Amino acid sequence: MREELLRNPVFAMAATQFDGVADFLELNDELRERCKWPKRLITVTVPIRHDDGSTKVYFGHRVQHHLTRGPVKGGLRYHPNVDLGEVAALAMWMNWKCALMDLPYGGGKGGIACDPRAMSMTELEHLTRRFTMEMIPFIGEDIDVMAPDMGTNEQTMAWMVDTYSTHAGRLIPGIVTGKPLTLQGSAGRTQATGHGVAFLACRALNKLGVTLTSATAIVQGFGNVGSHAAYGLSNSGVKITGISDVSGAIWNAKGIDTRKLRDHVAAHGTIKGFPEAELIDPAEMLCQPCDILIPAATDMVITGDNAPHLKCKVLAEAANGPTTPEADEVINRRGDIFVIPDVLCNAGGVTVSYFEWVQNLQRFQWTEREVLTKLETMLENAFTRVLHFAERHKLPHRMAAQALAIKTVADVKSQRGLFP
Ligand code: NAD
Repeated sequence: MREELLRNPVFAMAATQFDGVADFLELNDELRERCKWPKRLITVTVPIRHDDGSTKVYFGHRVQHHLTRGPVKGGLRYHPNVDLGEVAALAMWMNWKCALMDLPYGGGKGGIACDPRAMSMTELEHLTRRFTMEMIPFIGEDIDVMAPDMGTNEQTMAWMVDTYSTHAGRLIPGIVTGKPLTLQGSAGRTQATGHGVAFLACRALNKLGVTLTSATAIVQGFGNVGSHAAYGLSNSGVKITGISDVSGAIWNAKGIDTRKLRDHVAAHGTIKGFPEAELIDPAEMLCQPCDILIPAATDMVITGDNAPHLKCKVLAEAANGPTTPEADEVINRRGDIFVIPDVLCNAGGVTVSYFEWVQNLQRFQWTEREVLTKLETMLENAFTRVLHFAERHKLPHRMAAQALAIKTVADVKSQRGLFP
């Protein structure tokens, strides 16, 4: 199984990062092994009937990296490239993210290899409900709590609540987070990840002495995270010059009106055809001069090839695993880019998921202001801890963030000891 996981490039990347941090922390062999490998790897087949009457079997995965510090928490992704190795890598990163933010969770991730854009709502509902049924032996509000990720949204979560609750015979809203507000979701959850990305990117600019109103940003991906990061930055006075999605990239040196773009995407489903911008090659867009570059789509997009050509001051990693280890080496050597690593940068999502779960367990609702204020306090604390640790030990920010997190997990494993 070790070799099988390491054959996946995303898992190999997460494992390489882990090995580097474990060396720095001088973790002994026992703790290295216990921290690195996932506790549970679950794969299920999900048969559903399509609208045309045919039956198709999909493969779904859930990886629970650790249950050492609490229930497993992490998103569920619908994408054609989903496989067990990628899900295991994302579960490992979730684990470090929860530890860094000091949330009482282990990390998990799930995914179904499918193309949600080619499926009808009925097919997606059947897929989600059947996957939830297959997962029932392995999940629970104090065991494993899922949330939206690429290709899933609050409707997906609503179907999961309904399926799980119907099976239990009572409403159990805490089985997932990222639910609709009317189904005991949390105020602020939809925008939480993007809001956190924008908040931290602004903090990084403050550190560099760049005024927000003179700054520019480029955003790759205009889904949940990318769009809310763009709105947050626009609201702070930052000009968004480039935005891409899976259909292509658009550019306007005077700034893209993100609210108008939102309406365009709502009407057409894509940024393609937005009249107030010109087209730009998506790969070239990443290397245009800007203050903040935000990869908010998928993994491994900042590579050894494009890293030497980046012209940003801040790299705000909204996506999970957007920067390869080769790119990291280039960026660390260059020393002129302030990296906000993914485990910190996009931690707003899981933090507000935690708030949602707490509200569900307490049968209580907080206001959006309460949620976003608590979120900013927790992000500010984590940002400051990472920067201090990096400075004290002369480490890149990614290594500092992961070292703080992995040390937390390793310490708890040591304290709990090894059963039996
Ligand atoms: P989403 O499905 O809502 O949006 C993804 C966006 O990326 C879409 O606009 C899509 O068109 C675009 N895209 C896909 N492939 C692309 C490519 N090759 N080039 C340019 N654009 C491309 O997903 P999301 O929830 O916004 O998640 C985006 C990233 O953020 C993922 O890596 C996810 O794991 C991470 N993340 C999400 C959350 C969350 O709360 N949703 C939390 C933490 C991390």
